[in-house]
Amino acid sequence: MRRQKAPVAEKSCYWPGDLTRWCSMTNSAEGWLPDADPALADFGLGVDPLADTIAFPHLSDAELAEVEPFGVRCAFAVDESLFSAGEYPFNSHVILAGRVRIVDVSTGEPVIFVRYGPGYFTGDIDLFTRRPSVVSCEADTNVEAIRLTPSQLRTIFTKKPLLGDKFWKSFQRRRELLLTSRFRGLSVYGRKSDKATLDAAQLLYRNGVPHEWLDTSIEENRVTLERIRPAVKSYPVVAHGSRVLFEGPTHAELADHLHLRQPPPRSVYDVLVLGAGPAGLGAAVVAASEGLSCLVLDALGPGGQAGLTSRIENYAGFPNGVSGHELAHLIYLQALKFGADFHVPSTVCHLERPESGPFQVRTIEGDCVRGRSVIIATGVSYGRLDLQGLETLQGAGVYYSATSVESRLCRNSPVHVVGAGNSAGQAAMFLSQSACEVSLLVRGTDLPRMSTYLSERLRANPTVRIRFGSEVVGIEGVESIAAVHVRGPNGDVHNEASAGLFVFIGSQPRTGFLPASVSKSEKGFLLAGQDVAVLPEWKESRAPCTVETSWPGVFAAGDCRSGTPKRVAFAIGDGASAVTAVHTFFGRRHLDQTMTGLAV
Ligand SMILES: Cc1cc2nc3c(=O)[nH]c(=O)nc-3n(C[C@H](O)[C@H](O)[C@H](O)COP(=O)(O)OP(=O)(O)OC[C@H]3O[C@@H](n4cnc5c(N)ncnc54)[C@H](O)[C@@H]3O)c2cc1C
Repeated sequence: MRRQKAPVAEKSCYWPGDLTRWCSMTNSAEGWLPDADPALADFGLGVDPLADTIAFPHLSDAELAEVEPFGVRCAFAVDESLFSAGEYPFNSHVILAGRVRIVDVSTGEPVIFVRYGPGYFTGDIDLFTRRPSVVSCEADTNVEAIRLTPSQLRTIFTKKPLLGDKFWKSFQRRRELLLTSRFRGLSVYGRKSDKATLDAAQLLYRNGVPHEWLDTSIEENRVTLERIRPAVKSYPVVAHGSRVLFEGPTHAELADHLHLRQPPPRSVYDVLVLGAGPAGLGAAVVAASEGLSCLVLDALGPGGQAGLTSRIENYAGFPNGVSGHELAHLIYLQALKFGADFHVPSTVCHLERPESGPFQVRTIEGDCVRGRSVIIATGVSYGRLDLQGLETLQGAGVYYSATSVESRLCRNSPVHVVGAGNSAGQAAMFLSQSACEVSLLVRGTDLPRMSTYLSERLRANPTVRIRFGSEVVGIEGVESIAAVHVRGPNGDVHNEASAGLFVFIGSQPRTGFLPASVSKSEKGFLLAGQDVAVLPEWKESRAPCTVETSWPGVFAAGDCRSGTPKRVAFAIGDGASAVTAVHTFFGRRHLDQTMTGLAV
């Protein structure tokens, strides 16, 4: 029996249902090949994947007859490829005769995940994310099939909803199964203290790209890397199995390779949504479901601040709480299902209103997109502490988010969280699951801005020390943070070992890229609706729609809008109301154009 040691790796199981699990595959997981450990049979699932009837539903003859008119008949010879890992675009195939096998090569050698025959269909969720396939599919025998393109599948969703549901649910469930198996996806090699490695991992995590981070400060991972790339010049090294794809890629290179960014399919959209946090995602779902063409741009990927929190407990319908990342990912999938387009990473730097024609939005990545309306949902970012060395250690111990990416870097070590709002509180709660001690440093003497349920939970948590009247006045570290200097209530300063300084103070609206003529509050939050109706900048004869900014046809939603409660539920609802305002705007403009036409 051939045995191979599992490398020490951190596996990102980011998909809904598995989001919070970063499975540490240590040496104890000695078995690797299918026959090495009976408990890990069936590609690590422990069960035959076909036993999961949601992931692999068997279509009846009547259902096959329903599918037939939507697709095209095709045939494959034995061993012919239906699609390969990395191939884009790819299609779904409903098998009518013969058998196919799904093969993964991401662990460095081909492993068969599952085989199936007539009545089953191929495909997974990436048919809708418009990304390359993560696995390969080969004909095990001669095969006859019906080929369905993603757009033909979308037609099935609309015209045959019950049948469409089977396809959609199976695609979602298959991804969950794949991620609990030995499937690895991309391998990201780099050291824990390497910012570029962490950045790449964040991009992949945010966008739900399956990957494992292999920390090269661990000897075993370093040796594995040396086997596939002997002399590394820059990190991270990104590989698929034993094939090195990149050394030190930029965000744009990685995103292009993964098809996160592609030329937007339309020349002019009904709605451009700037930002894919809860507000932008809420807007995208409603806009796409109501038949508006919609393009969402985000600097990093779907989720926004909600993607930075492991637990939201005040979102209606989830009495046990829900991971913000998971919630955001589900909304993202919902928006894709309805046909919204996403373009990531796209950092918007310019919004322009030509004399006539659609709005133009430019990004620092060099794109220019056009829309008949714009929803600004760019949220807020957290303020910086005024400390020497802070910038150098940013991403190497100084963080503005607390996701599984950061928490695993601080495992079993003390960490410091700065802030007194819900975001700091949620971060402290989350980090208390992995760090040995969490100091929550609060300048004041109470937590008036934090929800009561959260402050009570923190007070009851033995791993969290709430330290009132305390602030960070210095940091130490060369490659990564080593210690923080904390001034306590009596003025004494202590050096305290720290694996992470998490900062959640002074949120600033991310509206700096907008022209000065888009009216803002003193602090830079966007004014809208009633607030702009009274401004001289509002020149229209009509009143502005509820969330319309001082630029007619440009709307604001979520945290970046002045006077909004900074909460997930509110942001999602605000995004939805912005779409209602877009409809009203289009309706009024149509009326105005008709009136003008009559006048002429
Ligand atoms: C750690 C943490 C815990 C929290 N816990 C809770 C909680 O338990 N309950 C709760 O209700 N709320 C919580 N919140 C607050 C909640 O997450 C926010 O209110 C909500 O995410 C706001 O949504 P938004 O879409 O308006 O903005 P954001 O979530 O800030 O999203 C804005 C998006 O816009 C993008 N963006 C910004 N500028 C640009 C640009 N120029 N170009 C392109 N894209 C851009 C960003 O990348 C981001 O994805 C928490 C926040 C944090 C940080």
